[in-house]
Amino acid sequence: MSIAQNIQKIRRDIPDGVTLVVVSKYHPQQALMEAYECGERVFGESRVQEMAQKHELLPKDIEWHMIGHLQTNKVKYIAPFVALIHSVDSLELLMQIDKQGAKFGRVIDCLLQLHVAAEESKFGLALGQAARLLSSEEFAVLRNVRIRGVMGMGTHTDDMDRVKADFAAIKGEFDALKSEFFTEADYFDTISMGMSGDFQLAINEGSTMVRIGTTIFGEREK
Ligand SMILES: *Cc1c(COP(=O)(O)O)cnc(C)c1O
Repeated sequence: MSIAQNIQKIRRDIPDGVTLVVVSKYHPQQALMEAYECGERVFGESRVQEMAQKHELLPKDIEWHMIGHLQTNKVKYIAPFVALIHSVDSLELLMQIDKQGAKFGRVIDCLLQLHVAAEESKFGLALGQAARLLSSEEFAVLRNVRIRGVMGMGTHTDDMDRVKADFAAIKGEFDALKSEFFTEADYFDTISMGMSGDFQLAINEGSTMVRIGTTIFGEREK
C-alpha cells in the first residue's frame, strides 16, 4: 500500500482530539512530502541534525516534534523552530531548553518523558522524579519552557496486558501531576503514548497524541 493509503487507514482509527505525529525519522524528504500532501502537518524526528535539515528543506507550516533522546549541547540547533520536545528527562536538559528559548525569544513546549516500561532503559523519569523536578526551585524560575504533559512508551512485548498496564501507569502519573501542579493550567493537556503496534490500546487508555512511523512508511533503513 502507498503512504497515502496507509495514512487514510490509520486516520480512521484516530478519533478527533487525538493528534497524529507522523514519525518520519530515517525517511527521505520525498516520503515526508507524500504525507504532507495528504494533509499531515505534524512530524516527529529523533535526531537533531536530521530534523534541522528537514526543517530547512520542507514547507514551513510543518510542526516539528523531537521524540528522541536529546543531548543538552544539541538543543541550540532545534530551539528556533521546534514545536514540541517529547523527551525531557532531566532538569538539566529543561534548563538548557529554557536558556535557548530565551535566546530565540520563544517559550518552548515540552513533555516530561516517563519511564514505566519493564526494560532497563537509560531514558525517562522514574515515577516520583517528575514531581521532584516540578517542585524544584530551579524549575520555578524557568520562563521560556512550558510543560504540556507527559510522554511514555509501553514495554516492548507481545503481552498486551503488560502494555496496557504501562499506559495506565502513564495516564495515572499525568493525572497525579495535573492535580498536584497544574490544576489552574489548561495547557497541561497532552499524553503522548502509542506507536505503530499499540496505538489503539494507548488511545483506549487515554492517549491524546500517538507517534506512528512504521505503519505509515514501512520499515526504516538505518
Ligand atoms: C521511532 C519512534 C516511534 C515510532 O515507532 P513505530 O513503531 O515506527 O511507529 C515512536 N516513538 C518514539 C519515541 C520513537 O523513537
